Amino acid sequence: MTCIFCHIIAHGLPAEILYEDEDLAVFKDINPAAPIHLLIVPKKHIDSVNALDEKTAGIFAKMVLAAKRMAERHGIQSGYRLMINNGREAGQVVYHLHMHFMGGWGRKPAKG
Ligand code: AMP
Ligand code: ZN
Repeated sequence: MTCIFCHIIAHGLPAEILYEDEDLAVFKDINPAAPIHLLIVPKKHIDSVNALDEKTAGIFAKMVLAAKRMAERHGIQSGYRLMINNGREAGQVVYHLHMHFMGGWGRKPAKG
C-alpha cells in the first residue's frame, strides 16, 4: 500500500485518530498549522476533488458534518476553518482526499 492515509486508516501507521466510522477517519495533522489541526479523511481512497463524481461526492456532506462534530467536541463552534488543497498548484501533497480542520486560536492547545 503506497498511500500514507490508507495506511493510517488501516491502522498500519500510527496517528492520533479522534473519530472513526464506516466512511471517515479524523486524525491530528502531524505538522499542525493551528492549535487544533485535524484531517478529515474518507476511508475510501479518492485522489482529490478532481476525482469526485456524482456517485462519490456524497462523502463531502459527511466530511462537513464530521467537522461540525469536531467543532462541538472541542468547543470551538465560534470559529474554525475548513480547507481542501486540490492539486499541485494549490499545495496538495497527499493524494488521498482530505479536509483540513483548523481552529482553537482563542484557546490554549487542547488535548485533542
Ligand atoms: P495537503 O497539502 O493538503 O496534501 O496536506 C497534507 C497534510 O498531511 C499536511 O498538513 C501534513 O502535515 C499531513 N500529514 C502528512 N503525513 C501525515 C501523517 N503521517 N500523519 C498525520 N498527518 C500527516
Ligand atoms: Zn489512500
